[in-house]
Amino acid sequence: MGFMELEFKGACREVGRSAVLIDEKIMLDYGVSPGENIQYPVNGSRPVAVFVSHAHIDHSGAVPNLMDLEPDVFMTPPTFDLAQMLAKDTLRIAEKEDEIAAYDSIDLTKFVHQTKLVDTGVNFHTHGYDAQFLDAGHIPGAAAIHLRDREEKSLFYTGDINTADTRLVSGAVEFPDSEVLITESTYFGDEHLPRREVEKQFVDSVRDTLDIGGSVIVPAFAIGRTQEILMLLDAHGIRAYVDGMGVQAYKIMSKHPEYIRNPTHLKRAFDNAIMVHGHKRDSIKLESSVIVTTAGMLNGGPALYYINKLYKDPKSKIILTGYQVEGTNGRMAMDTGNIENNGAIQHLKPKVEQYDFSAHSGDRELKEMVKDFCDRGTESVFTMHGDDCEGFADWVKEEIGVKAIAPQLGERFSI
Ligand SMILES: [Zn+2]
Repeated sequence: MGFMELEFKGACREVGRSAVLIDEKIMLDYGVSPGENIQYPVNGSRPVAVFVSHAHIDHSGAVPNLMDLEPDVFMTPPTFDLAQMLAKDTLRIAEKEDEIAAYDSIDLTKFVHQTKLVDTGVNFHTHGYDAQFLDAGHIPGAAAIHLRDREEKSLFYTGDINTADTRLVSGAVEFPDSEVLITESTYFGDEHLPRREVEKQFVDSVRDTLDIGGSVIVPAFAIGRTQEILMLLDAHGIRAYVDGMGVQAYKIMSKHPEYIRNPTHLKRAFDNAIMVHGHKRDSIKLESSVIVTTAGMLNGGPALYYINKLYKDPKSKIILTGYQVEGTNGRMAMDTGNIENNGAIQHLKPKVEQYDFSAHSGDRELKEMVKDFCDRGTESVFTMHGDDCEGFADWVKEEIGVKAIAPQLGERFSI
């Protein structure tokens, strides 16, 4: 019997730089860890093929670095378009700040050239493996990966997964039988409030602020969150400004309606919103206004421009819509009430709130998914991409009675 070799090159007991190498040949994701000090997957690799689960840079951001090897790269069409958008943005920022990016425009051209587009649900074959992308919820185009080798050994890699519906994308529903499961662990031990409840609290908070003449800045990630928040506001008749890369991400998504839960609603939300283009920013009068804008963790982007206009106004509000990583401006705003804005420390008079619009399965959904896999014959579970991967592995061992491991960075396994 042959073995499958797994090498965990990132996202081990941490969130960021996802990368798993199978049989020294197939790379599942190749991301960077976001934040001030960008980190890359460990131990050089020479994969012949790279499968990208979705466009977020902690899963796709280092793929252009592999282009001198000329691997075959596979991803869904929306992931390809969104990943290109982010990669171009990375190059643009590096150029502007006179830094050297880890890859250049030639790598990016090769990335485009090497990539083969595969829709979810379609079987494909490469370098001795049968593979399939399956809808993962999370963001448009996000896919889990199912891989089978010649000996019919099978592996399922969740990428980032959400089994619950959001306004933007339907939750993941289809899980094939698999001997090995590699699961994300982001929200193990953390239960989400029901989405409806989160939405209600968010909308009430926005309304309260508008009613007293304040404005609301909603920092939101460009891919997924910006679109979802606009759909939510639109459903409640609240017209918002939208500024930043979320507009471009919307235009890409609208070209792939089959990956959107309700393309008509998405279009209506953007038609009803007021899109801001850079040069028009100065002319906007902020009076009982809502601005949905990047960056989601306040590290750069037009959000800082709007905060600069409003940070002395106690009637206004800053409503964060996602998890704030340690070391980001958004986390500092929550913990201290200050942010750093273009070199200056600003004390925020607006109230800072945070709502959990997570695009990941919560504790209950994660556990149900793993249990479902194990009920159908999964023999080994690997937990990665989380703050408590060890806790999740322990839970699987104790509650389900199946072998489970939270790999260490660089650790290898034969199964
Ligand atoms: Zn993601």
